[in-house]
Amino acid sequence: MELELKKIIVEALKGQQAILGDDLFEVTNFNFSFREKKEEKISFSKFEKDVVDNPSVEKSLQPFSTNASTIDEFSAEISNCDRCKLASTRNKFVFGEGNSNADLMLIGEGPGAEEDAQGIPFVGKAGKLLNDILKAINFKREEVYIANIVKCRPPNNRNPLPEEIAACIPYLHKQIEFINPKIILCLGLVAATSLLETKNSLTKMRGNEYDLNGRIVMVTYHPAALLRNPGWKRGCWEDVQKLRKLYDSLMAN
Ligand code: SF4
Repeated sequence: MELELKKIIVEALKGQQAILGDDLFEVTNFNFSFREKKEEKISFSKFEKDVVDNPSVEKSLQPFSTNASTIDEFSAEISNCDRCKLASTRNKFVFGEGNSNADLMLIGEGPGAEEDAQGIPFVGKAGKLLNDILKAINFKREEVYIANIVKCRPPNNRNPLPEEIAACIPYLHKQIEFINPKIILCLGLVAATSLLETKNSLTKMRGNEYDLNGRIVMVTYHPAALLRNPGWKRGCWEDVQKLRKLYDSLMAN
């Protein structure tokens, strides 16, 4: 019963975080008092210090360079990466999939269980929903390119840690350079905040267009969040319709 309750609370918090993002956890100091007897202070600056002092974090922040001249060469080059701890728990490295000359690129958070088993991004239920969303705005999955912020699965589908994102995101930037899309659609809060280097909430970011080195970035919900909260599908529909219009106008010019 206790486990069931915990699951419900975790799912509810995930839902809230998908919309509110770090705003939900923005307070940096808490005073907890328990029946006015026990008081404990938790400072997030200590947490941040632990992260920075961690040797695995240092490794993840080492500069990265490549001589790869094609995206396939690049994928092969990094497929055994161990820049972060996710290397030790992954089954398959999930580089990305799709048209390597795509004008539209979709970026999610990280591989889930199915993706980790198959080595392909967005398979399983969330992948099926993503295919349906693309179909609804007249895109075939093969037309676009799909990747994630981190290329290895975080255990138990937790969010990737800051040091894991820091380790992996240079790969994504290189991948974007190879593909050279005109528009990038971030799926979910982690993708959007990591790529745009912001702490904004999803609510604030949806509907806007951002610039990333001359490319337009838009933001919508992650399909897995839509599966948990079907009421958000209408908002996603509005976002992707806007995306399609923008795509068509860029292609016409
Ligand atoms: S998540 Fe990225 S940085 Fe970490 S091991 Fe996998 S490929 Fe390397």
